[in-house]
Amino acid sequence: SVTPVTITITGAGGQIGYALLFRVASGAMLGPDTPVRLNLLEIPQGLRAAEGAALELQDCAFPLLHQVEVYDDPKAAFRGTSHALLVGARPRAAGMERGDLLAANGGIFGPQGEAINAGAADDVRVVVVGNPANTNALIASAHAPDVPADRFTALTRLDHNRALGQLAPAMDTPVGDIRNVTIWGNHSATQFPDVAHATAAGDPVPALLAARLGGVDAAREWIVDEFIPRVAKRGAEIIEVRGSSSVASAANAAIDHMRDWVHGTTGGWTSAAVVSDGSYGVPEDLVSSFPVESVDGSWRIVQGLSLDAFAQHRLATSVAELVDERDAVRALDLI
Ligand code: NDP
Repeated sequence: SVTPVTITITGAGGQIGYALLFRVASGAMLGPDTPVRLNLLEIPQGLRAAEGAALELQDCAFPLLHQVEVYDDPKAAFRGTSHALLVGARPRAAGMERGDLLAANGGIFGPQGEAINAGAADDVRVVVVGNPANTNALIASAHAPDVPADRFTALTRLDHNRALGQLAPAMDTPVGDIRNVTIWGNHSATQFPDVAHATAAGDPVPALLAARLGGVDAAREWIVDEFIPRVAKRGAEIIEVRGSSSVASAANAAIDHMRDWVHGTTGGWTSAAVVSDGSYGVPEDLVSSFPVESVDGSWRIVQGLSLDAFAQHRLATSVAELVDERDAVRALDLI
């Protein structure tokens, strides 16, 4: 029989955790041939909720689920882990200064990075979901000097999937026919959803939009005034309509991210926030979203895409925000 792999999920007692656990345990993330062991990490006030979820996991009798443990000690939770989904974070409270938010998250992601450094498996892969996700990934990575920086990533797959979800009806195309959309930059309102290189059933999306909307200018207007803000502000729209935040779609995106990282992307690229190697002028070491392919178990930034003046400006704006966040956590001695 195959040895189970250990997966650590933080914030496992929260909402996204609850949407994530059952799908991971059913094999949706690593596939039907990989048995799993789940380590759930919570802070003390979240432990009972995580323990309750663990009871329900038991009651699902998932054949792939070999073990569930609940911890409040990061060192124990990350021991031997090869897949870490860092969901728990300190949410922005009303009136909280950005520095306070970053400091609070430094207190979470610093120790988690240390714990990953100390005890995770050699092939550990980390995806940060908890916000500010890019900078939380940077903090965790800085505390894990023995783990290659490219093992620390942040989630922009939900933004990517939201972009696909907006394009499909706009072009009357099945969502599965759309390729090569990109989310650039920070997982925040400054993110840049880019369709310049996207295709639908092989045809260029910009040209298809122009044909449907009555010209290049109309297509551009739709992209700038409707598509980009709709994707970037989709979280607020979900809260308004649903009455609470996006949870199932966030969990789904985290699963997509980890599944593609492990099993590879096919038929074009996706988006993930990964450590920059300087590509596209993004300063090295920032964790920024790029077009990426997963090859042989590693993310590779897609090279050589042309960015027009508008795209360069949008990317630069989001990168400037990442630089600000990095400088703020550096000033707080968190990295
Ligand atoms: P959720 O499970 O709804 O959200 C968790 C985190 O994911 C938040 O930081 C949230 O950011 C972020 N997030 C990223 N993308 C999205 C999205 N599209 N929609 C919504 N959220 C998104 O929060 P809960 O409060 O239900 O649960 C958090 C749990 O984490 C709690 O049980 C808490 O106890 C635990 N926790 C655990 C820690 C640990 O294990 N060490 C540390 C801190 C907390 P945003 O706030 O910006 O929406």
